Amino acid sequence: MRSLLETISLNLMPSELFKTDISIETTRRLFKEYINTVELENHNYCNRVCWFCPNSKVDRHTNITIMNEAIFNKIVGSLKEINYNGRVLWSLYHEPLAHNSIFERIATVKSNLPDAKAMLITNGDYLTVDILKQLAKAKLDILRISYYSEKKDPIDEIELFISRINLKIIRIDNDKIILSGAPFEVILYHKAFANIIPNSRGGIVQKVHTRRLCACTKPIYHFVIESSGLCMLCCETMSSFKEHASAIIGDLNLPESNIFEIFRTNALKREYLASAKTELSMCKYCNVDLKRQFTRRFELADRLMKLVPGYLPLYLKLRRIKKNILK
Ligand code: SF4
Ligand code: SF4
Repeated sequence: MRSLLETISLNLMPSELFKTDISIETTRRLFKEYINTVELENHNYCNRVCWFCPNSKVDRHTNITIMNEAIFNKIVGSLKEINYNGRVLWSLYHEPLAHNSIFERIATVKSNLPDAKAMLITNGDYLTVDILKQLAKAKLDILRISYYSEKKDPIDEIELFISRINLKIIRIDNDKIILSGAPFEVILYHKAFANIIPNSRGGIVQKVHTRRLCACTKPIYHFVIESSGLCMLCCETMSSFKEHASAIIGDLNLPESNIFEIFRTNALKREYLASAKTELSMCKYCNVDLKRQFTRRFELADRLMKLVPGYLPLYLKLRRIKKNILK
C-alpha cells in the first residue's frame, strides 16, 4: 500500500522539480512547497563517538569550526524571502548544545521565519535546567533527545535523567517517550547500543551492497547544510569522505551561491534518484528506505500525466491522503 501510494505520488510530482532549466522564481516556489526540513550543523563537533555514526570514522575533535555568521545569515535571508514554513533542524553529525551560539541562532531563525518550526536533536549530555530555559527564551519549538544507553531496558536510567532536568513523562510508546515540563515539545527516543541496526551512511559505517530497486525521495524533501557551508545530497552523507565527494551539491561560501540555485542544480540528481538509479557511489551502499520496494518515477508516466486535465489538483489531493495515511 505504502509503495503504491509513494509511486503514484512520485509520478504526479511536477516535472519542473526534476529540471534545471527553470526560472529562479519557480525554483523558490518548489523549494517552499517541497522542502519540509532544512537541516544544519552549527559546528562540526560532537562530544561522543558512537560506533554507528560516521563520526567514528573521522576526526571531528581536533579542528572545531562554527558555521560562519555570513553563511548562516545567507541561509536565513534566503528562507525569509520565501517566508519558509517548514522545519529548521540542527542535527546531522554534531551535538548542537555543545556551543552556546546555538541559542542566538535559534532566536534569529524564529524572529526572521515566524512560520517555521525550530527543532534540535541532542544526545542529552549538555541538558540542564538552565539550558532548557535558554532554549525556551530562544523560542525553540521541538527538542528531540536521542538517548543512547548501554542497558537493554534503560527506563530507570531515563527517569533519573529527566528528573535531573525537571521534566516529566507523559506517555511511553515503545522507544518514544513524550515529556512535559518545558514550553516546547520534548520527545525522547531511547536506543540500547546493543539493539541498534545502523544506517550504512552511504557505505561509511557499513559496506552493504543494496542494489536499490526503489526511489530515494530524501533530496526532494530535505535540504542539508554542513557547518562548513557545503550543501549535501542528503543527511546520510558527509563531505569529509572522498567516497561522498559526489554528494556535495553546492558551496555557500561562493559569493554567487544560494540555497535556491543549489536546489535548482540538484534537479538532475533528484530525477536520477526518483527513477531508482543508483550509480551514485554513496547510494549504491545506502540501506535507507529499502522497504519502499519498487517505488519509482517513470518517464512515460510523467509524459502521460501531463495529458490528464487537472492532474495537479489530483496530485495535491493524493498528497493530503498519503500524508494522513502515513503519519
Ligand atoms: S551522539 Fe549522535 S552525532 Fe554524536 S557521535 Fe553519537 S550518533 Fe553521532
Ligand atoms: S539513496 Fe543516496 S540520496 Fe538517498 S538517502 Fe541514500 S545516500 Fe542519500
